[in-house]
This record gives sequence, structure tokens and C-alpha cells, in this order.
Amino acid sequence: MKVNVDFDRCEGHGLCVTQAADAFSLNDDGELDYHFDGDDVPADMEDDVRAAIGVCPVAALSESP
Ligand code: SF4
Repeated sequence: MKVNVDFDRCEGHGLCVTQAADAFSLNDDGELDYHFDGDDVPADMEDDVRAAIGVCPVAALSESP
């Protein structure tokens, strides 16, 4: 799976980080870093990343087909 991150939508509250800290983090400026941009999410992290997609309050994360 791949994930699209809409950085214009993201408000940087970090709920996704709580679900999948190996995939998402906030930098020192409070901006989201997505660690697999353009790459496939490692298979053993897909469940956590899907949970992160589910908790984003502004729908900034979506799974690519
Ligand atoms: S949960 Fe959504 S709005 Fe919050 S930091 Fe993650 S992508 Fe951004």
C-alpha cells in the first residue's frame, strides 16, 4: 500500500503519530514528516498506518489504490 498525505489539509496535531510512530513524526517546526513518501508501506506496518489514516480528524491521509 501507498499513502497520500495532503499537507495542505494537515493541521499537525499528531494523532497519526500516536498510531504509527514509525511512519509519521512531527518535526521541530510541528510539521508532519511521512517516512515512506512515494514508497510502499512495509507490510508489517500496514495495520498501524491504516489506523493512522482512520484517526486523522481532517482526512489528510488516504490510501492509494
Ligand atoms: S492526524 Fe492528520 S492532521 Fe494530524 S498530524 Fe496526522 S495527518 Fe496531520
